[in-house]
Amino acid sequence: MSFLTGPMHHHLEGHKDLTNHKDPIVLAEPDDLWIPLVNGNAPCTPLVSAGDEVKVGTKIAERNDHFYVPLYSPVSGKVVGVEKRMTAAMKNVDHLHIQSDHQDTTEKPFAPLDYETADWQTLEDFLKNSGMQGLGGAGFPTYVKYLKPENIQCLIINGVECEPYLTADYRNMMNNLELLKVGTLAFFKLSKAQRVCVSVKEDKADLIAELKKTFEGTPVEIRTVPDIYPAGWERTLVWLLEHKRYDRLPAEAGCIVDNASTAIAFGDALQNGMPITRKVVTVSGDAVKDPHNVIATVGTPASALIEACGGYTEENVVLAAGGPMMGMAIPNDKFVIGVPNNGLTVLKYVKNPDIKCLRCGKCTEVCPSGLEPVRINNAEKVKDIETLKKLDTQSCIECGLCSYICPSRIDVTEGIRRAKRYMALVKK
Ligand code: SF4
Ligand code: SF4
Repeated sequence: MSFLTGPMHHHLEGHKDLTNHKDPIVLAEPDDLWIPLVNGNAPCTPLVSAGDEVKVGTKIAERNDHFYVPLYSPVSGKVVGVEKRMTAAMKNVDHLHIQSDHQDTTEKPFAPLDYETADWQTLEDFLKNSGMQGLGGAGFPTYVKYLKPENIQCLIINGVECEPYLTADYRNMMNNLELLKVGTLAFFKLSKAQRVCVSVKEDKADLIAELKKTFEGTPVEIRTVPDIYPAGWERTLVWLLEHKRYDRLPAEAGCIVDNASTAIAFGDALQNGMPITRKVVTVSGDAVKDPHNVIATVGTPASALIEACGGYTEENVVLAAGGPMMGMAIPNDKFVIGVPNNGLTVLKYVKNPDIKCLRCGKCTEVCPSGLEPVRINNAEKVKDIETLKKLDTQSCIECGLCSYICPSRIDVTEGIRRAKRYMALVKK
C-alpha cells in the first residue's frame, strides 16, 4: 500500500450546499450553561465556586498539568456548582454549571495587542494567556506549537474542512476575513517560518477569490488541495502541500499546522482582547429539518442548536458530534458545545444488514494511517492487548474511511475506538 498517496484518497459527497450559503443562526445564550472542565484529555481545575458571580471573560478554570490552558466564562451570571455530565467525546467529566443573568457584563481578561509591534515573547505569552486551542476538533493548546519554532519552513493555516456536511470553517472564514488575516500574520510571526499559506479545497472558488483579495500584499499564499478525504488531516495536508512525511509532529517536516477558525479566534483576541466565548457549529444532515450554521455560546446544550434548526425530521436518528466520518455517535443531545466542537451531524437511522466480514481487505487498502483495521477489530473482540499494540492501534486517527468503504457495512471504526478505549483502560 502506498502511504498517503494511494487509494485512500476518496472524493466523498460533501452535502455542503445544505448550509454553506445560508447566514448562520445566532442563538441567544441559554439560562443554564455547563462548561466542560477538560482540555483534550486533561482535566481542568475550577477557580470559582458555587455562589460566585462571574462576568464574560472571568477566568473560571485552568488545565492542571504541565500545559497552561485557562478557561474563561462565556457569560455573566452565577456559578451553581460542579456537575458530572457526558461530553461530546462521550466522557463523563466535571462541568462548571453557570446560570446566566443575560446582562453580558464583561471583564476583558487581557488587553488587545498589536502583533506587528509586539516582540516575539510578548506575542507568545499573549497566545498562552488567551487560552487558544485547536478549533479543528482536537483542542490542543495552540501556544505549545510555537514554543520553540526551529527550522520551520512553512506555516499552514488549514481551512480545508474535508468532512462531509461541515461548513463552519468556510462560513467563519467568509464572515471574518480581517480577523483571519490578523491571526494568520500573528501566527506567521510566532512561527518564524520562511513561508505561510492558507489552504482550502480547490472547489471553493468564492472563498479563494475573497482570500486572495484579503491577503493581497502580504506574504500569505492561498494554496488549494483536491476535493478528497481526508485532505484536511494534518499528515495528508503536509504531504499534499510540502511532499513531506513525519513521524509524530508536523514540525519534524518543517511545518506548523493551525486551523483557520483558530487563526480567526486568535485575531479576535489580539484585536478585541476577548477569549473564545462563542463557536460556529454546523448543524446538518438528512434528519434535521432546517440545516444551518449556528453561532452558539460555549456551554450551550446540543439540543438547543438542533431546536434552532427546526428539530429532528423523525424519531430514529443517529446524532454525531462532528462530521459523519470522524464524529462519534452520541446516544442523546444533552451534551454541551465545548470550545473544540464544530459540528452536529444528524442522519436517518439505517439498520445495517448482518453480513460477516468478506476478508476483502478494502479497509486496509484505504487506511491513511497504514493500519489493518479488520485485524484490530478481531483482536479487540478477544481483548488481545499484545496484538492490539503490535497493530499500532493508537495510530488510528478515527477518520471513518474503513467503515465507509466496508461492503459488509461493518462499523470497523467503532471497533477501533473500542480497542483504543480498552488499551487506555488496561494501561491504567
Ligand atoms: S478509522 Fe482508523 S483504522 Fe479506519 S481507516 Fe481511518 S485511520 Fe484507518
Ligand atoms: S472492508 Fe469490511 S469486509 Fe472487507 S476486510 Fe475490512 S471489515 Fe472485512
